[in-house]
Amino acid sequence: MSDRHPCCDPYRDGDRTDPNDEHRAGRVRIVETSEPGWSMTYRVACTTCARRFTVKQIDGPALQWKWVPQGEKRRRVH
Ligand SMILES: [Zn+2]
Repeated sequence: MSDRHPCCDPYRDGDRTDPNDEHRAGRVRIVETSEPGWSMTYRVACTTCARRFTVKQIDGPALQWKWVPQGEKRRRVH
């Protein structure tokens, strides 16, 4: 698969993108969240291409967010 989504691909590359900020900016829509807490999971959808992401918020010295596109197979790096 070679679909490119310039609207939301960059989310995968960083770990400092707060889904709440993106939601407020109108770039994603938060579909649902787990029990709110320091470590929690968001399900969001890109408002441009409707792609869904699972975002894991990871507690630590600073909060981090891992954005994983839904349905994407784990790819091995060769
Ligand atoms: Zn998108």
